[in-house]
Amino acid sequence: MLAWLDQYAGKTYGNFIQGEWLASKSGRTVPLYHAARKDQLLGYFADSTEEDVDLAVKAAHEAFKTWSRVPAPERSTMLLTFAGLLERDAKELAYMLSAEQGKTLAESYGEVGRAAKETRFAAGDALRIDGETLPGERAHVWNSTVRYPIGVIAAIAPWNFPVVTPVRKIAPALAYGCTVVIKPASNTPWATVKIMELLAEAGLPRGVVNLVTGSGSRVGDPLVRHPLVRGISFTGSTKQGLTINEIAGGRLARTQLELGGKNPAVVLDYPHLEYAAKQIVSAAFTCSGQRCTAISRVIVLQHQAEALTEAILKEMKQIKIGPAWEQGVNMGPLVSESHLESVRSYIEVGKREGARLRTGGEILTAGEFSNGAYMTPALFDQVTPEMRIAKEEIFGPVLSVIPVKDEQEAFEAANAVDYGLAAAIFTENLSSAYRYADQIESGMVHVNHGTASAAHMPFGGVKLSGFGPYSIGSSNKEFFTETKVVYVQYETR
Ligand code: NAP
Ligand code: MG
Repeated sequence: MLAWLDQYAGKTYGNFIQGEWLASKSGRTVPLYHAARKDQLLGYFADSTEEDVDLAVKAAHEAFKTWSRVPAPERSTMLLTFAGLLERDAKELAYMLSAEQGKTLAESYGEVGRAAKETRFAAGDALRIDGETLPGERAHVWNSTVRYPIGVIAAIAPWNFPVVTPVRKIAPALAYGCTVVIKPASNTPWATVKIMELLAEAGLPRGVVNLVTGSGSRVGDPLVRHPLVRGISFTGSTKQGLTINEIAGGRLARTQLELGGKNPAVVLDYPHLEYAAKQIVSAAFTCSGQRCTAISRVIVLQHQAEALTEAILKEMKQIKIGPAWEQGVNMGPLVSESHLESVRSYIEVGKREGARLRTGGEILTAGEFSNGAYMTPALFDQVTPEMRIAKEEIFGPVLSVIPVKDEQEAFEAANAVDYGLAAAIFTENLSSAYRYADQIESGMVHVNHGTASAAHMPFGGVKLSGFGPYSIGSSNKEFFTETKVVYVQYETR
């Protein structure tokens, strides 16, 4: 990876508009540095403005006129080609992704593989854009519903999954016949450049997908406000999602919002604590805890709290921290110093609130660690549901154990947050499992495993975790298409 970076890093990238790489009208670029090699320049990226956004949206709007008429099986075939190209160039994509984001190479390969899988599901779904045919009220009338793509989609992505999140928005948009302008996070624009190249190589016509890089305020905001944008698929913070929804509501543009989480794992009289600990630790600390579906609260009956905490501590000892490319490393740095500072502040908050820090929370600065934002994974116990560390999204490697007296209290604690994205339960009691699935306020529920989702199932959250049709699965067509109802009187006698 390092040798590859020495050879390929440091170029200047423009925006991808109407099939061409164009410098920003601002004439400015911003440098991007390696997350685990602070002084290694990865590239210069266009520091775009409203003018660039307008060009890109107009290109997408023009391309929509023909792309929306391309037969769905042809769109599907292009997506299948694109999925193959993601796999062909997995190594390069993983290097770019690990360099800009920091996650380990194994995680990056996993992410690229997942992006290919989701693309193939979207390609298949292009062939299932179904409608209904219903009996007419009158004789000789044929009643049916037909779905049409809605138009230009603004795709706005965060920095934690720089390959799969853009693909999760672009692939279904194309499958259903929409066109796209993507704005990646400022921290992670590099892999998206490569995604544009692969889409072009897959044969996508000019203007169907466009990339504009730059800041949230100068690029994201005008993109959301652009009158020709018909749908906004946004993944990011709840705060930003609420603002976007207000703006979109003003012109009845659609939104698909994937927002924050504070995901619980409830453990009820579970006999396999080692297994539960493995599942919880993996779900809590993958991507250094910077996942919207990361488990951040463990809610356990008092009598098992200490045994489970011990099992989690034992499992956490398997975590080896280091840079992406190092053999045996399974946790990379956090994405940036400023994010590390925000996560670290919660260690202090937890201590002040009276929670007990059992391990972790230290900033690592010796040797190699001085080149990135490293922190040891933290575990608090004796946490109560009212504490801030039990309620607020930390988005880093910090896990809290909350002891409770019975099942009812466990479910109440699980629901006592503003979020509702993913939830797990570990139990061998069938009734408890179903009661939880029934009562938990969460978009996704996992019984007896962590919060890993599948590449063909709807993905989304309730409460402040999301809004609009879920992404990934068949639910996507509710976002990317609109319905027309057609009545045909085929006999007038
Ligand atoms: P964020 O600050 O909301 O940023 C997300 C994206 O919005 C970035 O591309 C950002 O651009 C852009 N943005 C910023 N200001 C904007 C504006 N005024 N108008 C339009 N776009 C704007 O979120 P983040 O800190 O990058 O990501 C972490 C958050 O994402 C967490 O809360 C996490 O839970 C959530 N997340 C949710 C899911 C899910 O599927 N539910 C998945 C992953 C992450 P800049 O980068 O240029 O600021
Ligand atoms: Mg932000």
